[in-house]
Amino acid sequence: MQRENNTEEEPFDIESTKFNKGDGVSVLLPKTFDKSSLDYLIPISGLGIGDFVEIPLGSKKSVGVIWERRQSNLDYNKLKYISRAIDIQPMDYKFRRFLTEFARYNLIPLGKAFRLVTAGQDLLSLTSYRKTYQSGKTNVEDITARQREIVSFFKQNPEQKFSMKQLIRNLKTSSTTINALCRSGHITCTTEILEEPDKLCVGSYSHSLSDKQKVVSNKLKEAANSNLFKVTLLRGVTGSGKTEVYMDAISATLDKGKQALVLMPEIALTIDLVKRVGERFGMKPSEWHSGISLADRKRLFKAVSMGKVNLIVGARSALFLPFLNLGLIVVDEEHDSSFKQEEGVCYNARDMAVLRGSTGNFPVILSSATPSLESWVNAEKGKYDRVDLTHRYRNSSLPKISILNLREDELEVNNWISNGVKSMITSRLEAGEQSLLFLNRRGYAPITVCKSCANQLGCPVCDTRLVQHSYGVKLLCHLCGFTAMLPNECPKCMKIVEWKAVGPGVERLAEECLKLFPSAKVGILSSDNIQNNSILKEKIREFSSGKVDIIIGTQLISKGHNFPYITFVGVIDADLSLQGGDLRAAEKTFQLLRQVSGRAGRGKRPGEAIVQTYEPENLVLRSIVDYNDEKFWKLEASERKFNGAPPFGKLIAVIISCENKKELMGVGREMAKLWETMKSSKVTLFGPAPAPISRIRNRYRLRFLFKLNKSLKTQDRIQKWLDRLCLPRSVRLTVDVDPISFY
Ligand code: ADP
Ligand code: ZN
Repeated sequence: MQRENNTEEEPFDIESTKFNKGDGVSVLLPKTFDKSSLDYLIPISGLGIGDFVEIPLGSKKSVGVIWERRQSNLDYNKLKYISRAIDIQPMDYKFRRFLTEFARYNLIPLGKAFRLVTAGQDLLSLTSYRKTYQSGKTNVEDITARQREIVSFFKQNPEQKFSMKQLIRNLKTSSTTINALCRSGHITCTTEILEEPDKLCVGSYSHSLSDKQKVVSNKLKEAANSNLFKVTLLRGVTGSGKTEVYMDAISATLDKGKQALVLMPEIALTIDLVKRVGERFGMKPSEWHSGISLADRKRLFKAVSMGKVNLIVGARSALFLPFLNLGLIVVDEEHDSSFKQEEGVCYNARDMAVLRGSTGNFPVILSSATPSLESWVNAEKGKYDRVDLTHRYRNSSLPKISILNLREDELEVNNWISNGVKSMITSRLEAGEQSLLFLNRRGYAPITVCKSCANQLGCPVCDTRLVQHSYGVKLLCHLCGFTAMLPNECPKCMKIVEWKAVGPGVERLAEECLKLFPSAKVGILSSDNIQNNSILKEKIREFSSGKVDIIIGTQLISKGHNFPYITFVGVIDADLSLQGGDLRAAEKTFQLLRQVSGRAGRGKRPGEAIVQTYEPENLVLRSIVDYNDEKFWKLEASERKFNGAPPFGKLIAVIISCENKKELMGVGREMAKLWETMKSSKVTLFGPAPAPISRIRNRYRLRFLFKLNKSLKTQDRIQKWLDRLCLPRSVRLTVDVDPISFY
């Protein structure tokens, strides 16, 4: 993340201006139409900039924030009054500045940025209530036998209050039945206002740190105590105690009465952290992500704005909470691409955490075993501080990694487990230890081919192949979710045919394992068998308890989950992620394989890993085996620098899509023509050209890829171009600044 020194005059009122009745103001709305703000009149004196308000909008109501004073050329007779103030702390100038710079950096209207604040909770009714049910009248005449059972349940629990959910579950009844009994007075229903969550205690207990951990912890605490913006890259091998030391910085922040936020790339990873924070601070932190109920979100939103919650563990969206006095953000697993939001508004939560730190003037910690090249380069340049933990806690050793050359240890047709890996698994099975096989491919086979005409089955609405799931049964498009049964007839040659499954997915690998090791228990961890978070929790618990002998996993397995019984990791196809022309292919492979092999030997016994490849001399693989991470980063950095690729240059993708291909091409040509008239020598445009995946969900896609220098001024030029576009409704436009996937 780059920021320029802003020498312009401070545009924000630090002491929020107060208005008088009848003053004209512009109110920022969470809308995406051209103008993000509309003008309104102040209904009572005392409202000020930053106040959350309710305003009339057409026949509807909307939430908004008073943004700035409006004086000139207002037609006061036409303006409506703000309806009322909403009882939340005003948005302070730091947060307003964050939203403004967020919008500028990501090339989106301010209203879209504001929508990230308001989405997912109903700000117009922030109080959250809970209804509870208790016993009422006990006479049982005039009611059915079934209702009598329910009344007698309440009689047995006279004082106790139940929620509707509990009643439905325990009594196998419905809300209609309960409500009827409320009306007849047999059950009393009470509405309570939900209380605010508690703050974590300060002055927490902590582990005694090793000498190396102490040095790192002191640096992080120093940053936390400085009250100044500074980014520290905390790089430490898996199991070295990164979480342990950043909890010290959190503790220091809370001690000062400030709030802290930990961002996690995936909800599932919060489980372990929430538990550890609970152990350390005597109470679990509040969580903020899509799995949190609306009632809890409303409660938290308000409590955070009043400073009544001091630690949040959350997903990217937690960045948009209106903290009263945020003093630290920790981004855990900062390299993880899940921090990049690619739908709706595209942004990278790791970079935006840095922006929030710089606009709010507080420190940010980026933690990872395998930092992103962006962060590594920023540390090299001295823009970020860097601290390292090079050894696992208690010196448990890192797994020994070796390369297996598939040119020598040849695979049989339709088999993917080499003899080398086979014998490792055998020895683990004999020792009662777990093995992990890593293959980043969901389903049974990535390609299904007609044996008669060689046609490959593709998605009817996307420009992509269908993946076979469950052998010979189902087809699934991983882009749009289209599913179909495997047809009897080939849609191309129209013959009744046999289908050939080409290549392996995790299901096929599991089949091979069962064939090779008939008595072993094999388990799969892939997003296909994880319908929701609680299933994932359950799976992880099952796997980490050692009940399964061989775990087969997609990249889900590479994340920070702790599986103490794994002592062997086999990487089935190391070449897979190196292919494909993505500018970050080497970096991603490096991170993925380092993380996956790091899953071995996290318990008491040492671990070992084998990487299967047809390219044993590949430099990425060599640096993984040699644990020579710095060498890899240096090499990768110099290559990117040579090519002017990120993080040395900047990329911005603009993708337009439309159901009508001809219309899309026409609009694309117009856009290109307009760019011609305003282009800059600092920007190179590639395209417009069909996007690498040229059709998704029946919409054709055209891509403009801009390569430019890293200056916000240059970027503003693209914003000017976007401002002047006037697209038909049938065409959708997405802007992706610093794209990380190129599809
Ligand atoms: P990382 O975040 O780098 O993967 P963790 O902080 O999770 O590392 O530490 C790995 C394991 O070692 C955890 O179970 C943690 O509780 C333990 N650990 C790390 N440092 C200490 C310490 N100083 N005292 C006791 N246990 C520690
Ligand atoms: Zn599709």
